[in-house]
Amino acid sequence: MALSNLQNAQTVQLVGWMLVARLGREGNMSKLQALRDLRAKVQYLGAEGMLNFLLKMGIRGKSEFFLPTVIERPEANRVLVLAPHPDDDVIGCGGVLVKHVQAQDEVIVAYLTDGSRGMQDLRRSMNLGARRKAEAERAAAVLGIRNLRFFGFLDTKLSLFVDDCSQMVAEILVDYNPDLIYLPFPLDYNPDHKAAAEVAVEAFAMVDYLCNVFAYEIAPPILPNRIIDITDQVDLKRQALLCHKSQMEQNDYVNVVIEGLDRYRTHGLLRGKGYAESYFACDGNYLAFLIKRMNEAM
Ligand SMILES: [Zn+2]
Repeated sequence: MALSNLQNAQTVQLVGWMLVARLGREGNMSKLQALRDLRAKVQYLGAEGMLNFLLKMGIRGKSEFFLPTVIERPEANRVLVLAPHPDDDVIGCGGVLVKHVQAQDEVIVAYLTDGSRGMQDLRRSMNLGARRKAEAERAAAVLGIRNLRFFGFLDTKLSLFVDDCSQMVAEILVDYNPDLIYLPFPLDYNPDHKAAAEVAVEAFAMVDYLCNVFAYEIAPPILPNRIIDITDQVDLKRQALLCHKSQMEQNDYVNVVIEGLDRYRTHGLLRGKGYAESYFACDGNYLAFLIKRMNEAM
């Protein structure tokens, strides 16, 4: 596949992530330690030195593509969100979804699993799937989204149902014809999150579909190439997160997601003011390429 400079640069970002994962695995370091180690190496080598290292690995790119850009929101008329669990949409892209709604873009959210394993204490998981569906409906209503699909695959087991789930996503692609898809970044330690990106790639292949993809961050932070200011939307995102009461009992999402990650994402380009979400933007072909490279490297 011939790659543009932008795609080469995205590969550079990906390889950075792979190094983080590999350093963590081989050196028995935590991801945070591995990230610090990688950052120290980059600082020692400098960006150009790092780039030379990557060039030796056969990856070409320009160092300016390391830098993410700030955009108002992606251009789109029909947005599809793939959420492996019934809260990932809010965590990963809740603020930007409000922007799409405010711009009168159509938005569909497809929840791929039932979220029924979303309790550490399994004895409390009775009827959790139904409870989480109701929470997702309330949260989506706060964001202004009413078009929801619940696929209901078993939580934690999406990787066993990639073919069936891809078929259902492919039907949405044909019927709804989205021009932008939000999905989890594929390098994620939650197997359902990783499987969701694979579902998208398989669905694209089934119906020969190509559109823009924005990969969002849920559990591990990603190396983003788009930053979007959500300061004016963050109150709605906060309210939507609070709708996920079953999950809030276990994780203080408001602090972790909004006051943690979304505050942090204003670092640098937004001068530390307000709140932001960050994304890795590419198209379906490049997403397929990334997943293939990651699977080869793992
Ligand atoms: Zn999730």
